[in-house]
Amino acid sequence: MKSDFNNCAGCGAAAGVDKLSCPECREPLIAPAKRSIAVWRLGEVRAGVLSGITRIVSEAFKVPVVVQPSLLDPRPSLRPRWKGVSATAFLNQVDRRAKRGVLFSLGITEENIVPGAAWNYLFGYAYLGRPSCVVSLHEISSDGADLKAIVRRAAAIAIHEIGHNCGLDHHGYDDGIPCVMTADTPLDCLELLDEGTHKFCRDCQQVVDRNLSQA
Ligand SMILES: [Zn+2]
Ligand SMILES: [Zn+2]
Ligand SMILES: [Zn+2]
Repeated sequence: MKSDFNNCAGCGAAAGVDKLSCPECREPLIAPAKRSIAVWRLGEVRAGVLSGITRIVSEAFKVPVVVQPSLLDPRPSLRPRWKGVSATAFLNQVDRRAKRGVLFSLGITEENIVPGAAWNYLFGYAYLGRPSCVVSLHEISSDGADLKAIVRRAAAIAIHEIGHNCGLDHHGYDDGIPCVMTADTPLDCLELLDEGTHKFCRDCQQVVDRNLSQA
């Protein structure tokens, strides 16, 4: 990908993805995130939502969460004829920024994300066994939910997607296991999301702990 940049949140200048500070205003573009979960934003994300998500995700994995100060270049994920931006292009941008020593790279956006032209929305998207995932606030804030509910939903999705990064698959709803990995893509909806838990079951938690101890 030739045209991928980090945009300075201060002055808007574009910089190469490895540039640590803005070539125009010297504001930091990339913060150190070793042994942490790094958050990358595609567009601005409401401040109260972002701080709420990072707090819950940090508590869930017991590691620091670092919000990267720059914003992802929106152009690589733009798909004018789709119902949202490309979830795959966004995920690839986040994955490209996954650095050695950073535990997981989590993309967050207010934009609607879709994996193809026929899709209406996605809650989140992740690479299985790679340390990168993305979460969209679009659908989960579409029903007029308050800030607290949006934070709760987004954090559950983020924890679930990081579970995929650890190699975890879904439990079916029929299994009746209280676990954040319970999901079924054709069935998933806000009601089931709200009924779900933020926690991993014992088996899943063991896999997550093994991943964190080997990282
Ligand atoms: Zn700048
Ligand atoms: Zn899933
Ligand atoms: Zn589980």
